[in-house]
Amino acid sequence: MQENPPILRTSLCRYGMEALAHAEKLVREGQPVAIPTETVYGLAANALDSDAVARIYAAKGRPSFNPLIVHVSGMEMAERLAHFDDLATRLTERFWPGPLTLIVPVREDSGLSPLVMAGLSTVALRMPAHRAMQALIDRTGLPLAAPSANRSGAISPTTAEHVLRSLEGRIPLIIDDGATERGLESTIAAPAGGQIRLLRPGPITADMLTEATGVPVVMGGGEKIEAPGQMESHYAPSKPVRLNAAQAQTGEYMIGFGDVAGDISLSETADLEEAATSLFAALHIADASSAPRIAIAPVPAEGIGAAINDRLRRAAA
Ligand code: AMP
Ligand code: MG
Repeated sequence: MQENPPILRTSLCRYGMEALAHAEKLVREGQPVAIPTETVYGLAANALDSDAVARIYAAKGRPSFNPLIVHVSGMEMAERLAHFDDLATRLTERFWPGPLTLIVPVREDSGLSPLVMAGLSTVALRMPAHRAMQALIDRTGLPLAAPSANRSGAISPTTAEHVLRSLEGRIPLIIDDGATERGLESTIAAPAGGQIRLLRPGPITADMLTEATGVPVVMGGGEKIEAPGQMESHYAPSKPVRLNAAQAQTGEYMIGFGDVAGDISLSETADLEEAATSLFAALHIADASSAPRIAIAPVPAEGIGAAINDRLRRAAA
């Protein structure tokens, strides 16, 4: 891991032609830029350029054994980078563009920086459904490696302001296109051998994957290197977090859900989609509050609630 990247002036630009032109120039020069996707804000750089990819790891302070997701403009670009069997192809047809990342065998002649895969023979690919990220891929014609735009291990950013707080002085540009729509990182799935392994729960649920393909979904993967981003403590506030809290105790900032009231609520109507969208913003607010600890109401694990509980468990680890 490289620490202490050079100190930069970070510009914050509203999404538009000017911001995109600036971002395109930086990406061509091998710099990473923060840009929204429909899940969270990403820190994007040229996936073919090892110096550019190294700058992502340095800006985040991310361990270099943790591989990155590569964002593509569509199947044509995806197939230049990796091999897609029938099952993988069907998943892309059903869910791309969208919050599904597929783990597929990388092509020998992909041109991808080996840093992106962190030594694996597979690559994580996704076609995002957001105008800003799509436009940047189109303008550069490059596959863009992009993890979440925050310091490694910290809460993921769902607004440009979150990115600024975490990475100011470490990256040259943040494109602001408002709060992200889905609020949770993409689902990561590995289709292979006639089954789908779910490596990270997300907005595309296990049931949706099975329903679309008729193929069984098995949870988790080989625990080790395969998905080191599934590190136990991740998405973590700087304070202790207590889960499944029925009410706040002294000194706790309470995040409510449904009938369980709090200083703030993920969704007063117990709407899980709304809770997913507001989760990270709520954690950022709780983290910035004067309370020394955080408590969070129980959230049912149905549908996207499985992904919410996954993130909550890591926030509390
Ligand atoms: P982030 O960029 O922070 O959303 O995390 C990306 C996630 O994708 C991490 O959990 C990585 O471990 C995972 N990932 C990336 N490439 C692969 C791969 N080839 N196999 C398995 N997991 C991967
Ligand atoms: Mg992340």
